[in-house]
Amino acid sequence: MQHSVISQHVAALLGAIPKQPTGNPYGLMATPAPAAPKPPEKPRSWSFIDRVTGETVQYTCMDGCTLDHSHEIGRRVFREDVWCWFWDDSLKLPVIENGEPEEFRVLSTVIKVEPWSNKVAERLPYAVIELLDDHFIEGLDPDGLETVINSLAERVEGMRATHRRLVEVREEYRQRTARPVREGGDV
Ligand SMILES: [Zn+2]
Repeated sequence: MQHSVISQHVAALLGAIPKQPTGNPYGLMATPAPAAPKPPEKPRSWSFIDRVTGETVQYTCMDGCTLDHSHEIGRRVFREDVWCWFWDDSLKLPVIENGEPEEFRVLSTVIKVEPWSNKVAERLPYAVIELLDDHFIEGLDPDGLETVINSLAERVEGMRATHRRLVEVREEYRQRTARPVREGGDV
């Protein structure tokens, strides 16, 4: 067993995170960001210049897109590089990395669409989950474990909210693509 190594990690973790009044070393997680997604804003419409054809292409973002498109608006870009996503409020947990606790996003659930993707399935909004592999949260006493469980439960609720949003946004997108909208001409 790597017990001594784990103990060192525990010590590093406990030393790096100030004790909270509750005695919970994971007090950082006691007030996780609200999991509910922000209300979607009106989809943005903007245009870019197709780098291959030189055409100006009008594009309307996916509902609720949170991506900053400023590096694409009015610029010459490849169509395949244009995509939208919605990133929900993330849960961050202190995870041991190289012996030091570091804040990592956990189970972020993103809705993404790539309207000009070579893969047809990616032209409808789909979900992406950012998992965390081979990283450990260590030194959890019962209170600490309970805090992690509560945080993950909130995260799961946030993921459910993202699931509902995916169903809605996908339907809206499907209807949109069913309409004969001309987007700057054919390729
Ligand atoms: Zn967008």
